[in-house]
Amino acid sequence: MKKEAPLNALASYLPEGTFGQVMEFLTTYKVHLTITRERSSILGDYRHPDGQGKGHRISVNGSLNKYSFLLTLLHEIAHLTTFNKYANRVAAHGKEWKQEFSYILHGFVGKSLLPPDVEKAVRQSMANPAASSCADENLLRVLKNYDRQKENHFFVEQVPLGGLFKTKDGRVFRRGALIRKRYRCEEVVSQRWYLFSPVYEVELVEAL
Ligand SMILES: [Zn+2]
Repeated sequence: MKKEAPLNALASYLPEGTFGQVMEFLTTYKVHLTITRERSSILGDYRHPDGQGKGHRISVNGSLNKYSFLLTLLHEIAHLTTFNKYANRVAAHGKEWKQEFSYILHGFVGKSLLPPDVEKAVRQSMANPAASSCADENLLRVLKNYDRQKENHFFVEQVPLGGLFKTKDGRVFRRGALIRKRYRCEEVVSQRWYLFSPVYEVELVEAL
């Protein structure tokens, strides 16, 4: 069973200033929105009316950062509006869906609702929706950054040389040089050296 968050909490999952516009979509199309709380690789999904009383249903992963949450929700709403126009006659992420997604995104750019790097990546996706797979990868990468930064999560490779970081168990290390494929890092307290994978997740420490 999916754990659900109450819908009135929706605003807290969204970037500031976007709630009203989002609610307009949800009420216009009478969407049953589910915010899942479990950590899973599924970002969101859309199910069309089943003809037996169930209407449009969208679920979005509530562990996403605000920008990923918004864009995932808009992605699913684009599936909804595409379904309304074309039913099942078009490909899931075909040119019709891209057109819908682009059109929906227009309402969220140029209003300082998104940080500049996200805005830029969104505009790139909109400018070239027909070939958006590369642009979307870029968008995903930009968004992913906010996931880690949300909780001060970084990869060891993102810590500057000589910079301090903390592991989950609270130990503090100073990043050293890359040796073959691992970073040599010194534990500050014990002055012992350890090897870390470049993509080991750590927290940055400002100063001791
Ligand atoms: Zn999709």
